[in-house]
Amino acid sequence: MPSPPTLTDARALLKRVYGYDAFRGLQENVIADTLAGRDGLAVLPTGGGKSLCYQIPALLREGVSIVVSPLIALMADQVDALKLAGVRAERLDSSMDFAARAAALDAAARGEMDLLYVSPEGLGNGLADRLSRMKVSLIAVDEAHCVSQWGHDFRPDYRALGRLKALFKGVPRLAVTATADARTRDDILAQLDLTDPAVHVASFDRPNLILSAEPKEGNRTARVVQLVKARAGVSGIVYAATRNAVEDLADALEKAGVPSLAYHAGLEAEVRAARQRRFLLEEGLVMCATVAFGMGVDKPDVRFVIHADPPKTLEAYWQEVGRGGRDGEPAEGVALFGPSDMNRSLQWTYSSDAPDEVKRVQLTKTRQLFAFLNGDECRRAAVRRYFGEEAVEPCGVCDACKGELGERYDVTRYAQMAVSAVLRCGQRIGRGRLVQHLLGEAKDGFDTDLSSLSTFGIGKELSRQGWNRVFDALLYEDLVAEGGEAMRPVLVVPDAEAAKALFRGERTVSLKQDPAAARRKT
Ligand code: ADP
Ligand code: ZN
Repeated sequence: MPSPPTLTDARALLKRVYGYDAFRGLQENVIADTLAGRDGLAVLPTGGGKSLCYQIPALLREGVSIVVSPLIALMADQVDALKLAGVRAERLDSSMDFAARAAALDAAARGEMDLLYVSPEGLGNGLADRLSRMKVSLIAVDEAHCVSQWGHDFRPDYRALGRLKALFKGVPRLAVTATADARTRDDILAQLDLTDPAVHVASFDRPNLILSAEPKEGNRTARVVQLVKARAGVSGIVYAATRNAVEDLADALEKAGVPSLAYHAGLEAEVRAARQRRFLLEEGLVMCATVAFGMGVDKPDVRFVIHADPPKTLEAYWQEVGRGGRDGEPAEGVALFGPSDMNRSLQWTYSSDAPDEVKRVQLTKTRQLFAFLNGDECRRAAVRRYFGEEAVEPCGVCDACKGELGERYDVTRYAQMAVSAVLRCGQRIGRGRLVQHLLGEAKDGFDTDLSSLSTFGIGKELSRQGWNRVFDALLYEDLVAEGGEAMRPVLVVPDAEAAKALFRGERTVSLKQDPAAARRKT
């Protein structure tokens, strides 16, 4: 029997096939454990070189390695790159014709294939059975966060991957992802049923990213154009939530003389592919896109990522801004956000037909995102803490670190009134009714029994809009929450201890805008 491959072999291969001199970050540790035949989970940042973590063991261990990957485009790119480097790799996806699939499988059965890429839905019982009769060296699960409902991109097809353990006895399985908080990591281990896994989690720091966030005010399109023009001549990405917004932004940028393209799922596949190619090849283009753009786009010199609308979660934010500065040179991330974005996201969750358990996770993630955006902590440190890193130092270059967030107004007194009202009213009415209650507006019959409460009409010094700002801040900070256990759009106080600290004045609430200056009429 030949001796098992070692790290020395891995280094030689790294040089020979990929032309690199040294491993990066945790690659070496992940590869060592995988070569030793252990199951594993590797969480490495986008651009951290996850593919090599399974490709190198795949090339060194005897047999064919199966790579489960959710994106056909991504698979095609990887397979093409591997073939160019002389590696025997193929993909099996539904867009291939029967003969090509059969040829790839036959080659694998003869031991003449190193890597086979499959989609999770493509890995049905027929294919899995066939593969299980071959000599399989490794099963890699890419974008492994998709297996977990705690992750931000749950895909039911991933759930079935747990069964591979029984089917491929003794074959090491390696899960890799760029984004997984502690809960998601635990869930990946459990769902894939990894045996005594070697878990490697890299630091989430990206020292060259310069981050900032600002509330949406006035004309958003004009603001984005202004931000882009201030960064003229370099490549950048502008993310927006909807296809229309993407088109509008691209038009506005073109009119302002900035070469830009629109990219979203509503465009023909060829148009998308052509625009993606142009973005990769040309310099100084701005891609206005929905989140349909980006997975697997590896352009090293993206100098800014602007979120014209906020991302879905902090995981998504980190992935999206992480597409900037892959060459290690400075890149900026600017995120615009508003309370209506948060409400839309919360409402979307309420009305989805996911199980309550899943909804609760999503609601929490939404709140964490907006607390982050609205917060005044170091941006990079906040993200790293979110991903479970401890003892992180402020970055020194973000808007918070540089003191650019501007003056804040202490609204603790109003926050106390609002939280009292939520509690007095029994945590069973929505924001609109609560504002009416604070303003002393008894509306229909429903409110009459609330008008005798001590909080009725105590908030007349603020306008409706002023109160809405106070409630926004309370929501951002999770001092009040929408839904509660009943999952209804009513406001509740999720954490009684936090509320007590607020009443005692130990916890303060501040706003970027003076709520008393808000117009009286809305
Ligand atoms: P991701 O973790 O985002 O999947 P990739 O595996 O696509 O990252 O790697 C990102 C880029 O870094 C690729 O161009 C890859 O070739 C390159 N890369 C990976 N490992 C190394 C290394 N050890 N040295 C230099 N470049 C590397
Ligand atoms: Zn900072």
